[in-house]
Amino acid sequence: MSDECIFCKIIKGEIPCNKVLENDKFLAFHDINPVTKVHILVIPKNHVANIAHLTEEKAAYVEGILPFIKDVAKEAGLSADGYRVVFNTGAKAGQSVFHLHAHILGGQELGWPEI
Ligand code: 5GP
Ligand code: ZN
Repeated sequence: MSDECIFCKIIKGEIPCNKVLENDKFLAFHDINPVTKVHILVIPKNHVANIAHLTEEKAAYVEGILPFIKDVAKEAGLSADGYRVVFNTGAKAGQSVFHLHAHILGGQELGWPEI
């Protein structure tokens, strides 16, 4: 846990969220500022800044995240039509919250972004 981290505060219940699914390791909730019709964030309950900060020990924090994302997408009704999973890693890649998270984007046709 990191005292200053907004996503750690959501995990602790200090900031509310619109929850989709939760298990012992991960929490999924709707993004407060969705960029697609369905926009869900998946976070590990243990704090790590992003993929670049994963050590051998911290890699355990995200073990099982892909099967969890699969369950979240099913819960949100995205499985049939497809969805995109994005991990912004670092400020230059658009990361603004430095607690590792997956964006699940769907509910509409998705173009491939201009870089
Ligand atoms: P990033 O830009 O770091 O990849 O993504 C951070 C995401 O967190 C953004 O899409 C932003 O809208 C979302 N976000 C930031 N603060 C909150 C919050 O307090 N609650 C929720 N549900 N989403 C948040
Ligand atoms: Zn955190």
